[in-house]
Amino acid sequence: MKYLLGLDLGGTKVSAAVLDGENKIISRARAKTRAWRDDEKVFQTIVSTGRRAIERAGIEAAQIEAVGIGSPGPLDPRAGLVIESSNLGFRNFPLGPRLAEEFRRPATIDNDVNAGMWGEFKMGAARGASNALGLFWGTGIGGGLIVNGTLYHGSSKNAGEIGHMIVQADGPRCGCGRRGCLEAMASRSAMTRDLRKALRRGKKTSIAKLIEGKSESVPSNALRRAYQAKDELAVKTVDRAARYIGYGLGSLVNVLGPQVVVLGGGMIEAFGQSLIDRIDKVARKTAFEFAIKDVVMVKAALGDDAGMIGAALLARESLGGRKR
Ligand SMILES: [Zn+2]
Repeated sequence: MKYLLGLDLGGTKVSAAVLDGENKIISRARAKTRAWRDDEKVFQTIVSTGRRAIERAGIEAAQIEAVGIGSPGPLDPRAGLVIESSNLGFRNFPLGPRLAEEFRRPATIDNDVNAGMWGEFKMGAARGASNALGLFWGTGIGGGLIVNGTLYHGSSKNAGEIGHMIVQADGPRCGCGRRGCLEAMASRSAMTRDLRKALRRGKKTSIAKLIEGKSESVPSNALRRAYQAKDELAVKTVDRAARYIGYGLGSLVNVLGPQVVVLGGGMIEAFGQSLIDRIDKVARKTAFEFAIKDVVMVKAALGDDAGMIGAALLARESLGGRKR
């Protein structure tokens, strides 16, 4: 049997999984990478986490057919380069070639969100569609595009950055430096910023303690609890964010014509279908009727596993020599 190693590199952790010949996860490992800003240290942690997953699978490293990794970008997937990932210290880091050298197997890299979307396309919520759009709503907002059955990279090799569409002219500053991006209007960090601002203006909320004097974004589950308890400020903030996501998705449906829109990420995991319905309603008012009438909006099915599964399957794909 041929196995695959799938890795998912995030800003704070790396996760690894071994997949068997039927694309089922047979072992896992994970480690923290919090704020090291040291590329070699991050790389060694990726390698040791991957080796631990292989050990736990009870197989030999030689039985691994290929290695795939999803990493924050921008990237050059073909050259295997992480062009920049500031909180991991990567700058033109040859992640693909270095992994290939360590594991003595072909290694494939792609954007972490693309890998997650590929996982959802091959094994999850977008299975069977040929055109699909994924939006992952958490601390940031990420996107992935499947066009005619393949992951769409565009000429820039980094297409799909739907979190950085400007949805409000001269809006609040985004992490990317621009103003009014969808991410700056609706991400968990944007909602936390809005809640903080409201608190300073004397508004009340049951989650004030989670926001004041903290640098992190308010957790999705805390937002959901406050929302369900009808905390006025929490309801207003989440509904507003959902509205912007609906505008963004409705516009994208007009541009791209997908069959399926996959919604995932911490916010969707925490709130579930009710939040998808809210977004869906706004998107349907935003898009042309002919463009959206047959579009289904579904919850991501693979959760945190999507990135590892997608990265592993992209690696298998590139073994087949198929052009991506
Ligand atoms: Zn931005």
